[in-house]
Amino acid sequence: MTHEPSLRERDAAAIWHPATHFADLERVPPLPIVAAQGVWLRDASGREILDGIGSWWTSVHGHCHPHIAAAIARQAATLDHVMFAGFTHEPAVALAERLLALAPREPGQPGASAYGKVFFSDCGSASIEVALKLAFQSRLQRGQPHKRRFATLANSYHGETLGALAVCGSATWREPFGPLLRESIVLPCPALPEHRHAWLDDPDAGAAAPETAQAIALLEAHADELAALIVEPIIQCAGKMRMPGVGYLRSIAQACRRLDIQLIADEIAVAFGRTGRMFACEWAELAPELVCLSKGLSGGTLPLAATLIRRGFEHDFAGEPSRSFMHSHSFTANPIACAAGLASLELFEQEAVLARTSSTIARLGTLAAALAADSDAVLAHRQAGMVVAFDLDARRGPSDGRLSLALRSAALERGVLVRPLHDTLYWMPALSITAHELEHLAEVSAAVVHEVLG
Ligand SMILES: *Cc1c(COP(=O)(O)O)cnc(C)c1O
Repeated sequence: MTHEPSLRERDAAAIWHPATHFADLERVPPLPIVAAQGVWLRDASGREILDGIGSWWTSVHGHCHPHIAAAIARQAATLDHVMFAGFTHEPAVALAERLLALAPREPGQPGASAYGKVFFSDCGSASIEVALKLAFQSRLQRGQPHKRRFATLANSYHGETLGALAVCGSATWREPFGPLLRESIVLPCPALPEHRHAWLDDPDAGAAAPETAQAIALLEAHADELAALIVEPIIQCAGKMRMPGVGYLRSIAQACRRLDIQLIADEIAVAFGRTGRMFACEWAELAPELVCLSKGLSGGTLPLAATLIRRGFEHDFAGEPSRSFMHSHSFTANPIACAAGLASLELFEQEAVLARTSSTIARLGTLAAALAADSDAVLAHRQAGMVVAFDLDARRGPSDGRLSLALRSAALERGVLVRPLHDTLYWMPALSITAHELEHLAEVSAAVVHEVLG
């Protein structure tokens, strides 16, 4: 009799999973998922799992929203793909128009979008590469070839391709590939471990931190060689959900303007309502030269990315063909992905998503405070919009040091998906999560903290 291999066995034989230790595959084998709806994943045994992290920060309106699914099906049956050099199509143009209309305003001019062009690509890291290359080439063609370096913030994350990796401020990501990477200038960045959502309205939050003055001094010292500074506005998601404060962001952005250093905002994880506004930059009234988008751009359904480009930036690329930006990806502006993006933006209007989210944000804050009060293993907790993070006392964790794995496994046993960043447990659900589902997420989180940390 031949043995019919299970999906797990076939997976183990054929697949190399991202961000996964081979040694952990036995202990926590990849879980087969067969369907998803709203914030719920269904595994092969029919069990429902609450997705507390929006499938790695991508899901905006919940899984398989019928409006997006219908748009994808329609587009797939009409025009699946066409090369984007020399061709164009309605979904890409309509999505670009809509993004430009929603994009951050020119500071002091509430009526005018600060952005004039959209460059599409297909993943977050690619949108970062596009921004870095645009910034570099614009300097060359402005006659400033000495301005060729990048600055980044300590503890930051910008993706895994070599250019993006080079501007990751956290050595964790960079280290194994160090010899392959250009060196960036890393600016100190405050951590406000008790950041509250209301602080987003405080234009000075973090401005007086010692790191702010140190960062500005470094920008001043290196201004002659800096093309651009790249930042994750409001939340350093992969960097344990640190929230440096609106005032810090405003201060360094101001210094950049004064010193002729372009600003690149990596909004890949924080755009599309995640902080309570469409774009996180809005809290600091910023209009960076370049804004990188992905993850929630398609509502979290298909790979798609975009780099928004400030009005006028393109002038440096006019003239001789040799001055063109020669960058392309095979799936640039894929029509199906763009149709999903458009449908997602339509939902923001139809379902008044941002207005609805403000009450969800308040509920999240209440539940987070309750969890923090419930266990002295929670050392600090913070919130910005739909993102809440808890710093846990790692000394009380398992003796093998694998705290995140222990928390993740304990939560999964209770039917909840969380994936702590070592000792930082966080919630980052789809914006569509209901009050009842949030309460469930909070209850299970509290039980898991007690189980693992005592
Ligand atoms: C996820 C992420 C990236 C990388 O995007 P990919 O699509 O995974 O390449 C870059 N920057 C930030 C802030 C991210 O969260």
